[in-house]
Amino acid sequence: MVGARAGGPRSRALRRAAGGSYTGPVRVTAIDRETSPEPAPAEVVLAGPRGFCAGVERAIEIVERALEVVGVPIYVRREIVHNRHVVEALRQKGAVFVDELDEVPEGATVIFSAHGVSPAVRESAIVRRLRVIDATCPLVTKVHTEAIRYAKEGRTIVLVGHADHDEVIGTLGEAPERIAVIDSVEEAERLEVDDPTKVAYLTQTTLSVDDTRAVIDVLRRRFPQIVGPSRDDICYATQNRQAAVKQLANEVELVLVLGAANSSNANRLREVAEALGTRAHLINDVRDIQPEWLAGVTRIGVTAGASTPEFLVREVVQWLEARGMPAVRELRVVEEDVRFGLPQELLEIARRQQAASAARP
Ligand code: SF4
Repeated sequence: MVGARAGGPRSRALRRAAGGSYTGPVRVTAIDRETSPEPAPAEVVLAGPRGFCAGVERAIEIVERALEVVGVPIYVRREIVHNRHVVEALRQKGAVFVDELDEVPEGATVIFSAHGVSPAVRESAIVRRLRVIDATCPLVTKVHTEAIRYAKEGRTIVLVGHADHDEVIGTLGEAPERIAVIDSVEEAERLEVDDPTKVAYLTQTTLSVDDTRAVIDVLRRRFPQIVGPSRDDICYATQNRQAAVKQLANEVELVLVLGAANSSNANRLREVAEALGTRAHLINDVRDIQPEWLAGVTRIGVTAGASTPEFLVREVVQWLEARGMPAVRELRVVEEDVRFGLPQELLEIARRQQAASAARP
């Protein structure tokens, strides 16, 4: 488990959007607690950590702060994070979500999403004279930097990830002629490169830790001189949420994962639970629960992807409580204390606005 720390403020508005942590009654138990000989009570077990990661909190705060200091409309390229509840809440506050920059009026302010963008998108913003505020997660930026370095070294870069995900599209754009995207052991076995002695690998930040290890093992066997990042690119939040859902899946009969269908890390949480033989469903919100899933279930686990607000977890807990699962326990496998600072360009806009207000009579 990983838990780096960086400084940065959090707004009250952000905490409202995030919903904070679950605030209802919980019993926190150690993960290695002894199994009780008593029959298991009907209970809801919450995975900890779950929900918002530092990159998502930062991205939401960037949009909220930009709305405050720049005013409406603020344009956001693509979903700021993959969750429709988050996107809709920001839309209500004045954010305008677009697919591509040609939908943004020249000279307007645009925010790049947490998933990052390719250099071609940055170029396009310059050509259109857009003011850019970059909400790319610093852990995604780290992968871009690695891609640039390996490309300069003349290596073929094997990017392990999903070719249609915004993050992978952005990373690929750093050196498209040098990067091969693969997402399975089979593709790793089939991969052909120009020079097997000059290969590097990178990974998407939100993959399955176990599946990715298997792919990298194949790459290391086939290309013994392959190089990779000093630390895994799979981010701390992905690793911690997968560790928590593993423990959860060992204790419950059914796991509900709150998250969007296009959220990579949320999908991986469902897969990790299923790989341990526990039934799991990915749901957008409480309305997706099918009551028949609960038939005969005495312990149900709930977790949430890194872009899922906590209020959606609370809604599910309340729904389950109303159906006779009143006991809520939190299974916390690791504490997180990661924060990322806001981008300089946003801080500079805020500083200039403050200076202008102070100069007004
Ligand atoms: Fe950053 Fe990881 Fe969160 Fe993605 S899931 S925004 S890489 S911290």
